Amino acid sequence: MTTIYSARWVVPGATEPLENGAVAVEGQRIAGVGPHAEVVARFPEFKVESLGDAIIFPGLVNTHTHLELTAMRGYLENEETDFFAWLRKLTVARLELMTADDIRVSATWGACEAVRAGITCVHDASDSAVMSMPALMDVGLRGVVYQESFGPDARLARENFEKLKTKVEELRAVESELVRAGVSPHAPYTVCGPQLELIAEFSRAERLPLMMHAAESAAEESFVREGCGAFAEGLARRAIEWKAPGVSTIQYLKQVGVLDTSPLLAHCIRVDEVDIAVLRDTRSQVAHCPKSNAKLGHGRAPFAKFLDAGLALGLGSDSVASNNTCDILEEARFATLMARAGGEHVTSSQALRVATFGGELIEGAHADLAVVSLTGAHQLPSYDPIATLIFASSGRDVILTVVAGREVYRNGRVSNVDEDRLRARMSEIRHRLNG
Ligand SMILES: [Zn+2]
Repeated sequence: MTTIYSARWVVPGATEPLENGAVAVEGQRIAGVGPHAEVVARFPEFKVESLGDAIIFPGLVNTHTHLELTAMRGYLENEETDFFAWLRKLTVARLELMTADDIRVSATWGACEAVRAGITCVHDASDSAVMSMPALMDVGLRGVVYQESFGPDARLARENFEKLKTKVEELRAVESELVRAGVSPHAPYTVCGPQLELIAEFSRAERLPLMMHAAESAAEESFVREGCGAFAEGLARRAIEWKAPGVSTIQYLKQVGVLDTSPLLAHCIRVDEVDIAVLRDTRSQVAHCPKSNAKLGHGRAPFAKFLDAGLALGLGSDSVASNNTCDILEEARFATLMARAGGEHVTSSQALRVATFGGELIEGAHADLAVVSLTGAHQLPSYDPIATLIFASSGRDVILTVVAGREVYRNGRVSNVDEDRLRARMSEIRHRLNG
């Protein structure tokens, strides 16, 4: 497809916003970005799409989510004060109440919600990755689907690792150019040290991206530092041995080799200055999930310190079971306001860079972009497009989402799937989960 998208504003990412700007798209790539007249003169044969009073900006990236759990939006409100109970109810629902097709429908609905909110790329951790991966593909998203691995019992580490390898093999058979496979050892309290070592080695040898929950809850911190608390008690009840390493989660993940994989670590709330330096030196990436962290009462990650350290930093909605929406613009506003509430200063430009995971509208880049309409009462007047995006807009103002040059969402409709059928199926799943 050869198209020029033009609008009142183009926000390229690393450079200054362009008033009356345009972006030329040829196939899956951006062919040019600049003032409208210049771009049209350079590509006279391209079709011109004028989007009017709107902002074109790099596609948003959700760096940590679980799309398969979309059917659990609002399902766990009564368990939120007890993380252990929350995880247990979620796990029972996913493994015992949801069918394979339910998982796929749930993930597809989550993928629809993402493109509706201007998200063009997702990093999705899934227990049923082979179901979640086609969901991303059906909707037209870019992303990585990370097959999860569980196993706190060191005696079963090898067996659980072999199960993961088999699942990854199945997943790799369905990979595409846009959607790749990864691995996700779930968390320090659900995967034992020997299994973490095996998975880290596998990730490096096979060049598989690795995502993991890290330094999230107080219960996790007690578990890793002192070997006590709800997670330790849970293992003791199952006669599973656990010897706490007695260090921070980040130091522990360094010891077992996870940080040698340039992992994508979700949450990182309970980190100190030394941990942040270790994250930077190991080129670890952080998925900051401020709304999920706040909703579950886990605390506040040091967002401004991450920015100061120059970490590879993105935003994650986490699953909608703990958020309850997948909306990275809203997440960016929340992250910025929470940082400021804590006395740290984060600018709207910094927030947008994080929300797009450093994405840029630049010649030769992937043609992944989002368009926010500026016609809402809540946005008028608009003096600065980036401030309007971060402080006055949300995913609900998105009118167009383009991934690899394809329009995956436009004018209120997700292009490639039957949303009415999915809506009806989501209602059936809700009834099943409610018993
Ligand atoms: Zn998560």
